[in-house]
Amino acid sequence: MESVLSLHKISKRYGKIQAVKVLSLDVLQGQVYGILGPNGSGKTTTLSIMLGLMKADSGDFLWFGDAPSKKSLKRIGAVIESPNFFPYLSAVKNLEIVASIKDLSFDGIPDVLMITGLYERRNSRFNTFSYGMKQRLAVASALLGNPEVLILDEPTNGLDPQGIAQIREIILRVASKGTTIILASHLLDEVQKICSHVAVLNKGQQLFSGKVSEVVAIADCIEIAAENQELLDKTIQSHANFKSLIHSDGKSLVYFTQAIKPQEINEFLFRNGIVLTHLSEKQRSLEKHFLELLQENQ
Ligand code: ATP
Repeated sequence: MESVLSLHKISKRYGKIQAVKVLSLDVLQGQVYGILGPNGSGKTTTLSIMLGLMKADSGDFLWFGDAPSKKSLKRIGAVIESPNFFPYLSAVKNLEIVASIKDLSFDGIPDVLMITGLYERRNSRFNTFSYGMKQRLAVASALLGNPEVLILDEPTNGLDPQGIAQIREIILRVASKGTTIILASHLLDEVQKICSHVAVLNKGQQLFSGKVSEVVAIADCIEIAAENQELLDKTIQSHANFKSLIHSDGKSLVYFTQAIKPQEINEFLFRNGIVLTHLSEKQRSLEKHFLELLQENQ
């Protein structure tokens, strides 16, 4: 897959505050890449640097394999700040102004209004829009010119549940057309629902990055049962990575000190003379993983 963005050891400091610390990450074409971290973890600073709105103190980055340029920035659409349009002008008029500034034709306007569910309200004035609609108009304006990459900073901040669902649907719709999405969020749930890949930041530093499905799939708990449950419990407690055990529904839920493969447990028990009648992997959520990572780094 083609490289879209490659950040290499980016650092940025505001006086005493180290906002971003030797951050490296790679985004490939078609990925929905989440930059996840609590408030103040350096997400907006990172997005501002990659968009050329701010200079990094050190490190470098490439867009589409090349040094950033005006040409590469034209291939990117971004919503970084809260939506700001002319209040007394309609959605269409506002988009025409944006298109003119970006030197784009007006032909794409109906399309972006359609994608963002604003087509019916295209002639309504901006100041009659709900906050959710304003946010969707900002996404529509970022989509003008059919960018290959869409960058969004906390796109659902301040929205009600319906507004959140609408924005998420739009993001998934845009991603399904092959557009690469880079999304900063402090919401685990959002990243888990929308993103294919994630980098977890804390205090400007990357704690973890990878496929969301892989983070979610890290299992540290296995449910097991055997004919002689008592012997099973006793045996599993002698495993080097055993942490704790609880009984549930005639089975044992066993927690380990680190991610463990079910095959390994099966083999271990078999070697100790136990034939399992049940074995299933319990997946922990990205949330648990994220909270643990934050705790470890406090
Ligand atoms: P949030 O979601 O709260 O915006 P964030 O993860 O986007 O957080 P940044 O906005 O990048 O984080 O901020 C990272 C750190 O840098 C924070 O400690 C913040 O207070 C600080 N910071 C950001 N901008 C400035 C600035 N212009 N001057 C001084 N400190 C700043």
